[in-house]
Amino acid sequence: MSKGNILIVEDNIDNYELVRFILERAGYEVFLAMNGRDGVAAARLQKPDLILMDLTMPEMDGWRAAEKLKGDDATKSIPLYALTAHALPSERKRALEAGCDGYVSKPIHMAGFLEVIENALSKKEKKKNTKLPRNQFMR
Ligand code: MN
Repeated sequence: MSKGNILIVEDNIDNYELVRFILERAGYEVFLAMNGRDGVAAARLQKPDLILMDLTMPEMDGWRAAEKLKGDDATKSIPLYALTAHALPSERKRALEAGCDGYVSKPIHMAGFLEVIENALSKKEKKKNTKLPRNQFMR
């Protein structure tokens, strides 16, 4: 069984293939959109468990796509992480201001990357399960 569906919005196919390789090997199901506009459409349609979003992309960049996703009731609760090569703190800050819940720096380092992914998904699980009685967690 898949550990979760992850939408990767990334215009660089080499970056995508690397991220896909790591995530699929770890048991996640992965799908791709190649620009922000397609990413927003895919998120609405597929309701992924997590979105990883590149920032610099054609058609619609990641900052604008983040604003759209977080401004839409249908997609605003999906954890959204910027996938960014931008080393400048100001670029990350802009991603967070646009609505991203966090970011992952490129180049990707496998162990740290999977930790961020698991953490992002577990936060979502907790949110989903908050109405369950406490003993539900202890079975
Ligand atoms: Mn890019």
